[in-house]
Amino acid sequence: MTDFAARRADMVERQLRARGIEDERVLAAMGEVPREAFVPERLQRRAYADSALPIGAEQTISQPWVVAAICQALALRGDERVLEVGTGSGYSAAVLARLAAEVIGIERHESLARGAAAALAGVGVDNVRLLVGDGSRGYPERAPYGAIAVHASAPAPPPALIAQLAEGGRLVVPIAAAAGDDLTLLRRYGDRVESEVIAPCRFVPLIGEEGF
Ligand code: SAH
Repeated sequence: MTDFAARRADMVERQLRARGIEDERVLAAMGEVPREAFVPERLQRRAYADSALPIGAEQTISQPWVVAAICQALALRGDERVLEVGTGSGYSAAVLARLAAEVIGIERHESLARGAAAALAGVGVDNVRLLVGDGSRGYPERAPYGAIAVHASAPAPPPALIAQLAEGGRLVVPIAAAAGDDLTLLRRYGDRVESEVIAPCRFVPLIGEEGF
């Protein structure tokens, strides 16, 4: 276990802090969540690799830096309700759960959602609620959200998600572009939406009504 702890600390310094992640709450959360609990057993020795890894159902757990960049852009203070679309392994939900009050995660593959629920319970995370379905439409039942994180690339910012943002709320979503995806931050102020590209990235496609 010390081995995983040492690799995790090393990941935080070399992959995150050295590459522009400076939000101390994000760095602390990523230094605490055991990524090895969210990858398939045969890949555990690669849990802190600087890359995405397969998790089944042709999906991947995102590269640590990407999870950190999304969390940093959301600028969470701790009291927010967060909607996460594309929970996958549950790793990013576990990180978000340390940064906000409550996380609602939506995953379209039931097998992944089941695995994520087990992994989250296994590491003692109790403020994530998981749903199976098409998250491209969001989850209006619990809106508005202080922040929304989308972990799969969309053709355009999903209007349903923007509509479910609280005033001043933040949405991070990868938008498909000609060469790869643009990880994009949107902020809602009344009817006005400000948008800013954070980084070029590569994600699996968002499949659904407001996806592909
Ligand atoms: N954040 C995840 C990364 C998962 S990859 C992690 O840390 O492991 C993106 C996930 O989005 C995949 O699991 C995929 O099944 C899911 N996905 C794609 N389209 C979706 C949609 N419309 N609604 C919910 N989940 C979706």
